[in-house]
Amino acid sequence: MQKGTKSYSILKLKCPRCHKGDLFVNNRLFAFSKLLVMPKRCKHCNQDYYIEPGFYSAALWISYPIELLLIIPTIFSGLIMDNSHQVFQILFPALVVLLFALQVPIMRISRAILLNITVAYDKTLSQ
Ligand SMILES: [Zn+2]
Repeated sequence: MQKGTKSYSILKLKCPRCHKGDLFVNNRLFAFSKLLVMPKRCKHCNQDYYIEPGFYSAALWISYPIELLLIIPTIFSGLIMDNSHQVFQILFPALVVLLFALQVPIMRISRAILLNITVAYDKTLSQ
């Protein structure tokens, strides 16, 4: 991933303006504590992460289609392959648990996508 691209900021959970500051207090993709806790401003460029009240409720409309893209094929594959393959009967519950585990990174990435839609990258701040 190249610094300066939207995908860098989204997948690394970095500030969309400078690509240096962290978006979350606990900035790993799979976090088990402080899942959605974000600092008020970027430590590097002072970009406001809370642009307006309720800003991140719009991130639901980003995470929802991502979830559908993952869950619908899983449900249909479960319905189709349930009785035909014995391995799938063991694999399917693990797949469902994995989908639940992916909730956290998808919520975090959705917030990053929303911020990247709203805030433009400033090349001068990253040097
Ligand atoms: Zn920043």
